[in-house]
Amino acid sequence: MTASQRVKLKPGDTIGILGGGQLGRMLAMAAARLGLRCQVFSPDPDSPAFDVVLNATCAEYADVEALELFANDVDVITYEFENVPAATAMVLAARRPVLPTQKILETTQDRLVEKDFVRKLGIGIADYADVSSVETLRTAIARIGLPAVIKTRRFGYDGKGQAIIREGDDIAQVWEDLATRSAILEAFIPFEREISVIAARSADGHVECFDVTENEHRDHILKISRAPADIPEALAAKARGIAETIASALDYVGVLAVEMFVVQGEGGPTVLVNEIAPRVHNSGHWTLDGASISQFEQHIRAIAGWPLGKPVRHGPVTMTNLIGDDINDYEQWLTVPGATVHLYGKGPARPGRKMGHVTQVFPREK
Ligand code: AMP
Repeated sequence: MTASQRVKLKPGDTIGILGGGQLGRMLAMAAARLGLRCQVFSPDPDSPAFDVVLNATCAEYADVEALELFANDVDVITYEFENVPAATAMVLAARRPVLPTQKILETTQDRLVEKDFVRKLGIGIADYADVSSVETLRTAIARIGLPAVIKTRRFGYDGKGQAIIREGDDIAQVWEDLATRSAILEAFIPFEREISVIAARSADGHVECFDVTENEHRDHILKISRAPADIPEALAAKARGIAETIASALDYVGVLAVEMFVVQGEGGPTVLVNEIAPRVHNSGHWTLDGASISQFEQHIRAIAGWPLGKPVRHGPVTMTNLIGDDINDYEQWLTVPGATVHLYGKGPARPGRKMGHVTQVFPREK
C-alpha cells in the first residue's frame, strides 16, 4: 500500500506544511474552512503562514530533530515549494506520508529530468540539450540555433537562473555569468500566449482540472492571470489532457500546475509544455474567488484522502499580483466593484516580492 492510499483524515486532524510563504498561508486557510488544522514548518521567523496557524515550527530544513518532532505532531505532510531538500523529505517520509511524494520532487527539481519525463510521454516541448561546460553549450547552440534560452537545471524561479542567448553574444561570458555546471539550453519559443493548467488528482486516480488560465508576465514575474484563456475549446481540452497525462504518469496526489506556451503549428495553434510545478501555483489564485472550490481546497482534499470537488467558475475572472510597491495601492483596490483583495502580511515591499493579489470576477463572459 502506498503512502497516498493510507491517508484518510478526519475533521480535527492536522496537516503539516513545509514552507511558510503565501502559498502555505492560503493552504492553511483552506484547511481551516474544512475543519482541519495545520502546522507550518519554516526557517523564516517572519513567515506569513505562521500568522494563520496555532502551531508552527521555526527551524532549518536540515534540523533532523525539529523535523522528527514536527512529523510526530501531524497526520500528513505537504509542501508549498518544490525545492524541498531530498534529505528533509526522506526524514519526514519515514514517519508520515509526504504528499506529493519524494519521487515527484526528484522529477520536478531538475529541469533536465523533468523535460526527459515530459518528452517520454510524447508531449510537445521545446527542443533542449544538456549543457555542462562552455564546449557543450557551443555544441548545443550549433544544433538548436539562436536565439535560445539557457536555464540552470536546479533552483530557477521567476526568471532567475536563466538568460536568452542571441546571435553575437559572447558565449563564454554567458556561461560564466550563469555560474553553474549543470544547465539546459532550450530553443527560444516565439509563443502567442502563455497558459497554465491547474489540475488536482486524488489517490484513486480521479483528476479535476480548473479552466485553462492565460498568464501575462512582467520582468519574468506573473502579473495578471485571466480565466478562461482566450483559446479555442479544442486547444483548452488538449491542454487539460496534457496536465491529466502528467499527473497520472507521476501517480500524483494533490494539485499541480503545468505551464505551457501556445504556438502556431502547421495545423493551427498547439501547445508546448514549459514547466511543471508540483504545488499550488500563483496562476491558480483566481480560483479563490472565481470558482466554487479553490486550488488550495482541492489540494487539501486530495492529500486528506477526501473526494475532489467539481470546480465551477463564477464568470470571467482576472487575478492581478501586487508586486513590490504595488502593495501601496491596496486601499484603491478595496473599493473597486467586484474586486477581492488578498494581502499576505509580509514585511518590507522589496522589488519583485509578491505582497498580495486581487481577484475580479466579471458578471458574464466577455
Ligand atoms: P521558466 O522559469 O522556465 O518558467 O521561464 C520563465 C519565463 O521565461 C516563461 O514564463 C517565459 O515567459 C520565458 N521563457 C522561458 N522559456 C522560454 C523559451 N524556451 N522561449 C521563450 N520564452 C521562454
